[in-house]
Amino acid sequence: MDFKEPPTLLDIAVQCLLNHEPLAIQALQEIPGELFVPLFTAAFKGRHEKILSAMVKSWPFFCLHVGPLRMQEAQHQLWKVMVESLQLFPVENPAFRSPKLRILDLTQHPGCKTKCPKITTTCTPCLHSCTNSERSLMKVESQCSSSSSESEGQSPKTTMELLVSLSLDSAFRENEFFALLLSKVEQSLGSLHLCVRDLGIKNLSECKSALSHLDLKCVTYLDVVEASLTKVVSLLKQAINLDSLSLSKITCRSFHGRAFRNFLSQLSSMDHLKELSLSSFCLTDHLEHVLRVVPADLDFLHLPFCGLNYNDFNFLSQCPQVNHLKLLDISNNSMYWEDCEPFYCLLENLCGSLQHLAIDHCLLTDATLSMLAPALSRCSQLRLFSFFSNPITMPMLRRIFEYLMPMTQLKYVIYPIPVHCYGRWHVRSSLDRQKLADVNAQLKIMLHEAERDDMCWITYTG
Ligand SMILES: [Zn+2]
Ligand SMILES: [Zn+2]
Repeated sequence: MDFKEPPTLLDIAVQCLLNHEPLAIQALQEIPGELFVPLFTAAFKGRHEKILSAMVKSWPFFCLHVGPLRMQEAQHQLWKVMVESLQLFPVENPAFRSPKLRILDLTQHPGCKTKCPKITTTCTPCLHSCTNSERSLMKVESQCSSSSSESEGQSPKTTMELLVSLSLDSAFRENEFFALLLSKVEQSLGSLHLCVRDLGIKNLSECKSALSHLDLKCVTYLDVVEASLTKVVSLLKQAINLDSLSLSKITCRSFHGRAFRNFLSQLSSMDHLKELSLSSFCLTDHLEHVLRVVPADLDFLHLPFCGLNYNDFNFLSQCPQVNHLKLLDISNNSMYWEDCEPFYCLLENLCGSLQHLAIDHCLLTDATLSMLAPALSRCSQLRLFSFFSNPITMPMLRRIFEYLMPMTQLKYVIYPIPVHCYGRWHVRSSLDRQKLADVNAQLKIMLHEAERDDMCWITYTG
């Protein structure tokens, strides 16, 4: 018989309030502060917009982070309600209890709490407050406290921060949420700092006017799709605090021109960079120039569709900057050369740190994989290995299987459909579904016999 834990008194109190919206809103004036976080969590999950709005208006703590409350869809409506309800000073609706909220954080960073615990040693009570912008709460407050006359600057009591992730494309003018953010900032007469931490830009040249409203020093994650390298460089000159940079479909006229030199110079100044993703960015014979300037403790490197050649791989295998990678994605670069020594050395170098390896669509053959397998099996931290869409045979797949079985950390393998399943390799219409089903069934039996039911082997037919 299933035994279900009985609800706690707190659960019953929260549920009771949610079922009676007007009562809940009225009760916000009196309920103890400890009830706010569980009530907010339940109201957010249940999409009680009116209660959420009232809670933001009377939030009794310094900060409010929605990060722990991940939702898959229609989150924008809830964000909109919360931004609209943000009380700028002087308080618009004095009927609500005096709000203490100074930082509203709508970013999706996992691992943060709904409100920060009280720490007396930091200058602001919020662990996620902006430290980069001149308009940040922390900097405005320190300016004000050092200034003898308050009338010269903003009063610290009026400064607030709104932390968001933004995705801009050429249709940003029709983006209702972005328009709301800008109107709120305008309404605040300079007292609200719009702090964009994660910024995605598609079609950079058309988003210029939107970017003029942002302080790019706040951005830590930047993703740019479709732009010229010259325009990317001018953006990077302002976004100087990046942890993660992702560039895709970037056009670069020459590796000897000023734009590439300036790009390298910007990269070299990114001391905090942990993740670099260059996709559909042709770097044939020039990967060396990029890797030489990135910080030595890079964690994640994605280089799909970069046209990498033997020399690039050779450099990759000797480059100290990539010796501690946790993730390496070099998919969609053809590795048809016979000498796979550089790749072997690369795996040897990464055997203590690599957790995620993707080498899909690389034209890897049985011969190459059989040479790489011993080095691969020494990557003891590996959790995900993806090598789908490479022309290998069933005996080779079995052999790789044997190599991977002792790797206890490895849980996900995305394997290539063996060549015998195709009439003509990788022509989708020539795929024999029955043969593929047999391969899947064999692998399932092999996993069971090897007592590795914790491992998941999948493939794609697309
Ligand atoms: Zn906080
Ligand atoms: Zn900021």
